Amino acid sequence: MERLSLITMRLQLSLASIILCFFSSLITAQDLTLIKNVTVFDGERIMENTSVFIEGNKIKAIGNILGDVDGRLIDGTGKFLMPAMINAHVHAWSPESLKEAADAGVLNVMDMHGIERFQNQMKQLNDSTKYANYYIAGAAATVPEGHGTQYGFPTPTLTTPEEAKKFVADRVAANVDYVKIIVEPWKKTLNSETVEALITEAHKADKLAVVHVSRLDDALMVLNHGADALVHIWWDKELSAQDIEALKRRDFFIIPTTLTTLKAFKSMGEKSWEYLSKEALLNQIRMLHEAGIPIVAGTDPPNLGINYGTDLYEELRLLSEAGLSNLEVLKSATSNAAISFKIAKRGFVKPGYLADLILLDGSPVENINNIASINRIWKQGKIVK
Ligand SMILES: [Zn+2]
Repeated sequence: MERLSLITMRLQLSLASIILCFFSSLITAQDLTLIKNVTVFDGERIMENTSVFIEGNKIKAIGNILGDVDGRLIDGTGKFLMPAMINAHVHAWSPESLKEAADAGVLNVMDMHGIERFQNQMKQLNDSTKYANYYIAGAAATVPEGHGTQYGFPTPTLTTPEEAKKFVADRVAANVDYVKIIVEPWKKTLNSETVEALITEAHKADKLAVVHVSRLDDALMVLNHGADALVHIWWDKELSAQDIEALKRRDFFIIPTTLTTLKAFKSMGEKSWEYLSKEALLNQIRMLHEAGIPIVAGTDPPNLGINYGTDLYEELRLLSEAGLSNLEVLKSATSNAAISFKIAKRGFVKPGYLADLILLDGSPVENINNIASINRIWKQGKIVK
């Protein structure tokens, strides 16, 4: 018995020393951070009282790390560690926007319409700790005088299915990450055939086709054509049981932009046309979630005065109010977005993934408002704030 425990102890000691030797032989102490005794949301589930070990720009290990590490040690007792967030609908016009996002723990933003030349310059900042990673649609597809052309910058347009091939090829040449299409009948808008051709061309180019809609019938139309995502929820009417069944058969995700939509309703004041009540809007989101459709968080800044950073917390509060569990709400701004947009090595806390992390003083699973209790942010293992 004694002999056995001695052997076990020796084994444990030698394991610990192997691990420590392995770590110390490869890297210098300043590249190492160990966050101990912390609650972790890894993108899928909660792990209580565990440790996360960061080596260089990556997560090296999670679990009960043996021994001590010759590096930065952070006591995570009472704290909550989660992946950095993703805002899946923005329009960023300057590096300042990307900095505002990063300072709020939003280390990835998906731009949904802008000027490709500027966007590609801003993408050069992706490896800087100060700025959020920037993903772009380039110019969104719209018709002359359609939604998206009113902002005073030159926008390429199209009107027929025959033009879709060149439109998508131009976006691919501009290094876009996905293709954005606008269907917005309050102005002139793309017809159904052209939308279908754009989606087909985007898929041929191995790009997601994500679509702006504001009406339920348009949402059903674009999903019928194979759209990968809706970048807003509809404003005009409620889903029927038949609609839900139709949506369940489609493979897509939705960025409801709840905060944006409610602000838009408010700014319209007296009803100029029919739109949903807040209760009905939140109900639509709950129904989509219950139908198994991934919900992805996005806020559409700078529209309606929304900021690039902390206003994403408002969106998360609204998703919580809509009836998603707080764990599901956290997924909407992390793993759901990373999976949906096929972002590699981000959106999760996993070994081998980038150390893009947020440490909070309180648990947002217990209370979603704790998402604002930021203690520290890391981008690729370096402190942002
Ligand atoms: Zn937008």
